[in-house]
Amino acid sequence: MARSAKSSAKPGCANRVSPAKPGGDGTRSLPRRRGGRVDAATVAEIFRRFAAANPHPEGELEHTTTYTLLVAVVLSAQATDAGVNKATRPLFKIADTPQKMVALGEERVREYIKTIGLYRNKAKNVIALSQQLIAEYGGKVPHDREALESLPGVGRKTANVVLNIAFGEPTMAVDTHVFRVSNRLGIAPGKTPLAVEEGLMQRIPKQYLQHAHHWLILHGRYVCKAQRPRCEACIVSDLCTAPDRILPVTPPAPV
Ligand code: SF4
Repeated sequence: MARSAKSSAKPGCANRVSPAKPGGDGTRSLPRRRGGRVDAATVAEIFRRFAAANPHPEGELEHTTTYTLLVAVVLSAQATDAGVNKATRPLFKIADTPQKMVALGEERVREYIKTIGLYRNKAKNVIALSQQLIAEYGGKVPHDREALESLPGVGRKTANVVLNIAFGEPTMAVDTHVFRVSNRLGIAPGKTPLAVEEGLMQRIPKQYLQHAHHWLILHGRYVCKAQRPRCEACIVSDLCTAPDRILPVTPPAPV
């Protein structure tokens, strides 16, 4: 089994690993951290591997238009993408524009999304933001951060997702996965989502910025999980100095 001898211990406790010393055994020594951050060359190598493994990463929230993307992201707060998709599939069949959503009404929207956490408040926000889009933006989703963040239920993270996916801007939406992975790998350590976002924007090489948040989300969701990171399946484990990583016996195959 490709784990350290203490892999059954809780992450962050007894399975703490010490940085390897540079040696003549042909393996790469672990990057050093300064102030919790790995160096720029390591950041570049991490994203080179993410890009090589998955050149065209995509978000997992189903949508057909910028408007349905916005609604799906608003609904996804504290909910899984799979749960949101299950609710929005029938909803978007009958309401894929602000006008149709307003015509549907808050009570019926609530019925469609009642399997999602905080659904009452979210239904209220979906109707209110649809009304605002009609009243102020001709029923279109504005390509403007300030305007997006003025919509009910839309915060910085939601605006970043919409600006990135719908408008192709290299923004960095920091959700729980991006926050955790950025801290664990030492790419952009920070105590708040905004600090991590700013660190990522400064440190990720330009050519990777457009897709970076998708790579980090997917890595956090499927590999670098919160409770039990799958370090044995991690393509950057030899670059990781996280105290809660679980050392593979053999280094990952080069990507
Ligand atoms: S080695 Fe483990 S802790 Fe480090 S990034 Fe990979 S999965 Fe996460």
